[in-house]
Amino acid sequence: MVPEINKLTVRQAVDGIRAGAFSSVELTRAVLAATAKHAALNAYIWLDAADALHQAGAADAARQAGQAGALLGVPLAIKDVLNVAGQPCTCGSKILKGYTSLYDATAIARLRAAGAIFVGRTNMDEFAMGSTTENSAYGPTRNPAAPDHVAGGSSGGSAAAVAGGLALAALGSDTGGSVRQPASFCGCVGLKPSYGRVSRYGLVSYASSLDQIGPLARTVSDAALLLGVMAGRDAMDATTLDKSVPDFAAALQGDLRGMRLGMPREYFVDGMNPEVAAAVKAAIARCQELGAEIVEVSLPHTKYAVATYYILAAAEASANLARFDGVRYGFRAAAGDSPIEMYKKTRAEGFGSEVQRRIILGTYVLSSGYYDAYYLRAQKVRTLIRRDFDAAFTQCDALLTPVTPAPAYRLGETMDDPLHMYLGDIFTVTANLAGICGLSVPCGRTRVGLPVGLQVLGPAFGEEKIIRVGAAFERSGGAVP
Ligand code: GLN
Repeated sequence: MVPEINKLTVRQAVDGIRAGAFSSVELTRAVLAATAKHAALNAYIWLDAADALHQAGAADAARQAGQAGALLGVPLAIKDVLNVAGQPCTCGSKILKGYTSLYDATAIARLRAAGAIFVGRTNMDEFAMGSTTENSAYGPTRNPAAPDHVAGGSSGGSAAAVAGGLALAALGSDTGGSVRQPASFCGCVGLKPSYGRVSRYGLVSYASSLDQIGPLARTVSDAALLLGVMAGRDAMDATTLDKSVPDFAAALQGDLRGMRLGMPREYFVDGMNPEVAAAVKAAIARCQELGAEIVEVSLPHTKYAVATYYILAAAEASANLARFDGVRYGFRAAAGDSPIEMYKKTRAEGFGSEVQRRIILGTYVLSSGYYDAYYLRAQKVRTLIRRDFDAAFTQCDALLTPVTPAPAYRLGETMDDPLHMYLGDIFTVTANLAGICGLSVPCGRTRVGLPVGLQVLGPAFGEEKIIRVGAAFERSGGAVP
């Protein structure tokens, strides 16, 4: 067997399986061995080796029967917020303990049709609320690059699985940075599609106007491959755009000559970690060497983005999470004297403290008397943020920014200080508020070895542009070791 086939890219794995160099069963065994060896990362919160090998065996049989799906036999890791028929779906929460999915999310169904294998469920901040995966009811995920540091969040388990060789690629969800930020913290690629590019059907909702499913992978090319399989109109999600899906693979070939790339002034601020700033600026200089013209642009409403995001996300979450009442799904607290008592006890015992904080905040900003002052005003600022991007994209094709102001936190560092954690989302929440697409590509490491990511932001439905930039950067050598 080829050594460490679990560390191949998806494209290499597909080629290897097609050429008969190894089977899907062998590849899946290598992945499972890595998950056992690195169990201390706590990347997966559920995994069924026998079921994974069964899926792999079926993929090998399909190949022998002449089938050739784009992902035939490739083991993927799925964030515990996406429904995969027959597998648990807890959203990292105690309240959904024991719940089994009844159907495949559309993104999953499309990957399955392309031949992918679903190894297990990756750890996450409860209901995707957080930036460290420490808000999981199932313990934190550790960063493969530095185990005393967090993997980021909320898709921390998916990022750790990809970076650690515990899956060939993974899916996450990104409401305010949850694909791009953990990818950046762990040193892998993460892509947040434009709002409406990928169906949200079967994704457990956090904030429906911001949520998107996105791939985490070892290369931009793999992320583009997964996106191409998942993207496109879905009758089950009316917010998906009825527009033909471009050939993302073609975008991988382009170079940077003739491209104008913007550096938003507001994304390079005092107080940022100097090593992060230096790595990102070096990456931008590389893009210039590769032929891009770099221009300075301004996104003047950036300073309101975190506040706007945490009002709107909490408001939507407070409505979306009303369905978890102990009646329909998962956990139910020992019944009290009345149904109302049962609801209260179930939600008090079932939800963790960060989720409760968001529900309380969200209910507050939607309540009469505060709606106009908070929710409505935040919606107006959201429009201003979107217009900032509209204006910037008249001056350039894509934007280059840091993903986060600092590298991965130490475990426990932000736990007692939610505001500190919220502020770390400053460079990622804007893309969700504006509905645009974003890519996180590894661009370096700090002296102690913590990965740093470069963020490439593109206009709505401009994924080809960010893929082109990311792939060209990666081809030029990618992260400075
Ligand atoms: N950290 C942000 C939050 O806590 C973003 C999370 C996400 O994208 N799901 O809401």
